[in-house]
Amino acid sequence: MARANAAYYASRDPFADFTTAPEICQAFGEILGLWAAVTWEQLGRPSPVILAEAGPGRGTLMRDALRAIVAGAPAFRAALSVHLIETSPRLRAMQTAALTPPPAPSPERSPLPLREGVRGRGQPVWHETITTLPDQPLILLANEFLDALPIRQFARRGGAWVERFVRDGAIVEKPAPAPRREADDGEVVEVREAAVELAGTLGRRFAARPGAALFLDYGPTESTPGDSLQAIRSGRPADPFSEPGSADLTAHVDFASLIRAARAVGGAAHGPIPQGVFLTRLGLLQRTDRLARTQPPARALALIEAARRLVEPDQMGRLFKALALSSPGCPVPAGFEEPMASFPA
Ligand code: SAH
Repeated sequence: MARANAAYYASRDPFADFTTAPEICQAFGEILGLWAAVTWEQLGRPSPVILAEAGPGRGTLMRDALRAIVAGAPAFRAALSVHLIETSPRLRAMQTAALTPPPAPSPERSPLPLREGVRGRGQPVWHETITTLPDQPLILLANEFLDALPIRQFARRGGAWVERFVRDGAIVEKPAPAPRREADDGEVVEVREAAVELAGTLGRRFAARPGAALFLDYGPTESTPGDSLQAIRSGRPADPFSEPGSADLTAHVDFASLIRAARAVGGAAHGPIPQGVFLTRLGLLQRTDRLARTQPPARALALIEAARRLVEPDQMGRLFKALALSSPGCPVPAGFEEPMASFPA
């Protein structure tokens, strides 16, 4: 999965196959930028501070976030430097274009002024992994990043376990030690080592120095047995094993395993809560309304429809979740204040 996705992201425009929240709704990135600014206040206004994004795609979320930060939190803007975690050279080029000022003022995007552009303390710095981020306080954003990280699948066959591998487009099963998961005979369980390792790295980092990370991604609160691997090719569901590297491969995120990994090393975790609840609490709909009022009716309607798509429970509002990892002393991050027992997975 890791190699197939690396080839896919390096050779294709993924946004020809699927769309994401920042691509359909500019207020999404703006709200996340303001979340980062509030979190920076909560962390005690550290300076310098890193504003990072993992898997920035076209750079749209970061561009919208920085525009909102320039307008609403200039002190944060002055303190931050932008770091992007991206393995695809193709997408790095798109991110450079999105974040290199002066971007032409686009009627599609907010009328907020882009006073100093996004350059401020220099161009973004790119990383292959979060482990090379400088040793400074960190605020990390990541939308639909975890779902692209590789998984391993194990299946229970009678009293024994097998791991599932892909060879020549088909699954082969090999005997394997039992994963630390329960399952009935015949069931498949998924293990997300890369995501769990990331959560552990962040938890350790936040235990040692101020920081917070916000993940928006899809999956149940706690994963149950089942095969969640999906492929999208040319905008349609496809066989994940045919033509590796030609389709976007994703799997559901297991939020509970990330929380356990971060807490085990001294980090704090908040959520997950449904994306719709998180974005509504942070004012996505009000912000969209304000923006819509400046637009012609057809455009205004499209903006409102897009924001609704992100929050409606039967669209992206419930399956998508928000999870925050943070320093243990940090106040509860914005949007995560209430207990979430009443939200179904
Ligand atoms: N966050 C963006 C894009 C999501 S697509 C959006 O919401 O529109 C997934 C992104 O993660 C792409 O930018 C892809 O190149 C990147 N990516 C996937 N696997 C990665 C890995 N192992 N390390 C770093 N980046 C990765």
